[in-house]
Amino acid sequence: MAALPAALQPQVVIDALVKQYDNLRALGGVTFSVNCGEWVALMGPSGSGKTTLINILGGLDTLTSGQVSVDGVDLSKLSENELVRYRAEKVGFVFQQFHLVPYLTALENVMLAQYFHSSTDERQAADALRRVGLGDRLEHLPAKLSGGEQQRVAIARALINEPKLILADEPTGNLDEANENIVLQIFRELHEAGHTILMVTHDPDIARQADRRIELAHGHLQYDTAQHGPGHPLHCPLANTADCCTEPSSVTTVEDQIRFDHLLEQIWICGEEAKPAQISQLHAEGPAGRLPLITDEPARRVLTRMSEVSLVELRSDEAQLTPMGARRARDVVRRHRLAERLFKDTFAIDDTEAHTQACKFEHIISPELDQRICTFLGHPKTCPHGNPIPPGNCCGNLSAATTTTNGHV
Ligand code: ADP
Repeated sequence: MAALPAALQPQVVIDALVKQYDNLRALGGVTFSVNCGEWVALMGPSGSGKTTLINILGGLDTLTSGQVSVDGVDLSKLSENELVRYRAEKVGFVFQQFHLVPYLTALENVMLAQYFHSSTDERQAADALRRVGLGDRLEHLPAKLSGGEQQRVAIARALINEPKLILADEPTGNLDEANENIVLQIFRELHEAGHTILMVTHDPDIARQADRRIELAHGHLQYDTAQHGPGHPLHCPLANTADCCTEPSSVTTVEDQIRFDHLLEQIWICGEEAKPAQISQLHAEGPAGRLPLITDEPARRVLTRMSEVSLVELRSDEAQLTPMGARRARDVVRRHRLAERLFKDTFAIDDTEAHTQACKFEHIISPELDQRICTFLGHPKTCPHGNPIPPGNCCGNLSAATTTTNGHV
């Protein structure tokens, strides 16, 4: 039989993919494949498993059973080091949050990504920024760029290694209409240039621009243009209504997430020091003091909201981490200490400044960047102050990653 043309060969093959988180089945046996050069819009209500699927495809999360292969490589067979290489070489991520380092210029942000792949090449980084129309913004800090321009820097960074597979999780979710159009135009050009794109979106207009629409519901494939034909109506029960994409009001604000992280960090540190986390001693602002834009609030009030979302349990004057809270605390402590190492060792910033910057940096580091920084730094075991950095998946020591002092999970 004659070989299929490259464009018709599946680049991504997903077969009976199951992802289980404790008692929760986020993906319950999903099967589909994506051809080279296809643009797929991934849709479905909140909680249907879209991000989990993107994270597994990007090698940021592991699967429970089934098979996922990209370019013939079975992701479940890759070691942690091989996964880091896979992410660096094969995949470009574009997230809703831009995850730019605020203290580096547009050019340096792209060069930082090159650093994790191989070596830096200023001309190549500048070319990548010119391709997304930012040739005159190379030396601008993210704060001096509009949301659309920041997202374009993030796209330039994602494209620096010429990835065949682009994974985008609501890349226009934070943009106004004008910037959304500019970013979508870049995706159209990437599509024309032959990149395979999997894009999570809630927007039916964006989905219509893709070659194909796949919808998930409760972790199952609900609809696929390739199986059901293009005429099928959008399956999201809220599609085309004002409620489509509206997060439930119980969702916490970004400010609250930052307060939560600060408190989780302090409770974690009490655990490391084998001390009870006394609520009267905790404070909602960060260890380096109050952050700009975050209004102060008594710790007990914030902790009450945290107990409502099962991050902590409150007992008279003591706060204890739940298993979910401990996992998140561990991640934020890890990001903070890794960031301190990065600032101290790589940028030669002094201790106090490294600590202050790490307090901000810990909120914007993506899981992907966390692992790249850790790998780049050689999986350090301690921060500059000698405190332990909880190991991550990239450190290849999962048993040590799951238990630490004082019952932390
Ligand atoms: P979507 O992107 O469609 O909103 P997600 O993939 O984020 O959905 O989540 C699917 C389900 O898996 C949700 O119920 C979510 O709460 C759960 N989930 C996602 N990540 C985790 C995790 N790390 N631990 C436990 N449950 C998770």
